[in-house]
Amino acid sequence: MGVSMDDILSLCRRRGFIFPSSEIYGGLAGFYDYGPLGCELKKNIRDAWWQDMVHRRDDVVGIDGSIIMHPSVLKASGHVDGFSDPMVDCRESKMRYRADQLFYAPVVVEGQVIGYVCVLEDASMEAAALEAAQRLKSKLSIRGELQPLHLECYMDAPEAVQRLIPSPATGTPGALTPPRAFNLMFATHVGAVSDDASIAYLRPETAQGIFVNFKNILDTVHRKLPFGVAQIGRAFRNEITPRNFIFRSREFEQMELEYFIGPDADWESFHRQWVEERLRWHQSIGIRPELLSLQVHGKEKLAHYSKACTDITFHYPFGWQELEGIAARGNFDLTRHQEESGKSLEYFDEETRQKYIPHVIEPSVGVDRVLLAVLCSAYDRDEIGGEERTVLRLHPRMAPVKMAILPLVKNKPEVVHMAQGIHKQLMKHWNVAYDATGAIGRRYRRMDEIGTPFAITVDFESLENGTVTLRERDSTQQRRMDIGEVMACVTDAINS
Ligand code: ATP
Repeated sequence: MGVSMDDILSLCRRRGFIFPSSEIYGGLAGFYDYGPLGCELKKNIRDAWWQDMVHRRDDVVGIDGSIIMHPSVLKASGHVDGFSDPMVDCRESKMRYRADQLFYAPVVVEGQVIGYVCVLEDASMEAAALEAAQRLKSKLSIRGELQPLHLECYMDAPEAVQRLIPSPATGTPGALTPPRAFNLMFATHVGAVSDDASIAYLRPETAQGIFVNFKNILDTVHRKLPFGVAQIGRAFRNEITPRNFIFRSREFEQMELEYFIGPDADWESFHRQWVEERLRWHQSIGIRPELLSLQVHGKEKLAHYSKACTDITFHYPFGWQELEGIAARGNFDLTRHQEESGKSLEYFDEETRQKYIPHVIEPSVGVDRVLLAVLCSAYDRDEIGGEERTVLRLHPRMAPVKMAILPLVKNKPEVVHMAQGIHKQLMKHWNVAYDATGAIGRRYRRMDEIGTPFAITVDFESLENGTVTLRERDSTQQRRMDIGEVMACVTDAINS
C-alpha cells in the first residue's frame, strides 16, 4: 500500500514538520511554515545539495544573490512580459483555475453528444469525470450506453466548445471565461514613492541572479570553462492554483546551478551527464529509485531558445510530477543581459584566443519538492512485537535528529547523569535528542516516527563498563558498544 497525502499531512502536522502559514489567522493559501523538525530536514537537503554540487566538485562555486533585483533584470530575461500561466475564471463561483490544468470531455450516449464534463487534473480525474458524466446522463434522463470518455486539455478546446464546457465548481456550462495570461510575479515598490518607476519584483527563480553576476564571478575567481555557479534561495510565484501542499506553493526555495560551457562544446553530452548526476543525487539522499523517472520535453514544449529539457519526475501520491528540470538553455540569458545592460558578458578563451558568450546547462530543483519526495519515500508502517508502528526510513544524512539518548530509568541519578553527559558530548557533533519520559518502547516509537536512525540506551551496565545499547531504527536490532563505536557507526551511516 502506497503512502497517501493524508498520511503525510497528518504526520507533518502531528510531529511539527510543516504548518500552514499564519494559521491562527486562518492561513494563507500557498504559504507554509516549517516547524522544528521540518526546518532541520530542509536544512539537511540544502546542505547535502551544497556539499555535493559545490564543495565536492572543483568546477562549481556558489553565490547568494538578492531576492529583489533591478527591474531590468527580469525585463531582459523575459519574465516581465512572458512569465505567465493561462488563467480561467468561473463567473459564478469566482474560483480561478489554470487552464492547462483543466480537462474536459464530451459525454456521448449512443453516438449523441449530450453535454460536457470538466475536471481538475489529478491522479483520480478519470474517475471524477466518469462520475460527472453519469450524473449528467441521469439528470437529463437519457437512456442508453455511455461511451468511454476521452479527456483533453481545456486549452486545446475550440472556442465554440469552450462555451459549452461546464465549470468544475458549479457544473454550469458557459460559466468559464476564455483563458487569459496571468503574470505570476509578485510586484512591490522600492523606496518611499509608489509609482510605475519604483516597481520591482520578488524573483520568480534564483537563476537570473547568477547570470547578472557572471562577470563579477569571472573577474574574481578566474575559472576556466566549463564551470558552474550554484545558488540556493527563495523564489516567489503568485501561482493561480497553489495545491498539493508544499508541491506548488507561492513562496518556495530553489537550488539552481548554471553550468557554463563553450559554444562549440558537446552540449548534449553535458546535458546527459547532468541528468545522470542529478538522478544519482536524488537516490543518494534516500528517494526511492522506483518512484523516480525521466521525462524528455518534446520540441513543441520547449521555449524558443531552449535546446532540450529533461524533467526528473517523482511519483507523488497525487501522480507523477516534475521534481527537477534540467535544461540546455543555449546562450539566451547572458545574451539578453548583455544586450539590455550594454555590458560585455563575454568570456575570453585563452587557448583559442576567442571571445564568446558561453552556453549553459541548468539543473533546477525545488527544496520543498525534494522534501516532499523524501518524506513520501521514507514513510512506512510495520509491526514490531505485535504493535503497529509508523516509521520514517529516512537516510541518516536527511534525518532531522541523528540520535536519541535515552536513560533506561529516570529515578536513578547516576544513570541520568551519565546519559546527560553523553547527550552533551554528542550534541557537539549532531542534532541529537534527549528523552527520559515514558516507557522505553514508547520512546523508541516516537523516534521511529520522526526518522531518527539511532537511539542509545544508558542502563546499569553502562555505569559498570561504559557501554551503551545502540538500537537501529529500521531493523530495531540492538548492540552493546562504547561511545567511540557509537560515533563511528553514526558517522558511517550519515556518509553512506
Ligand atoms: P511547474 O511546471 O510544476 O510549474 P516549472 O517547470 O514552472 O514547474 P521551473 O520554472 O523549471 O518549474 O522551476 C524549477 C524547479 O522549481 C521545479 O522543478 C520545482 O522543483 C521548483 N518549483 C517551481 N515552481 C514551484 C512552486 N510553485 N512550488 C514549489 N516548487 C516549485
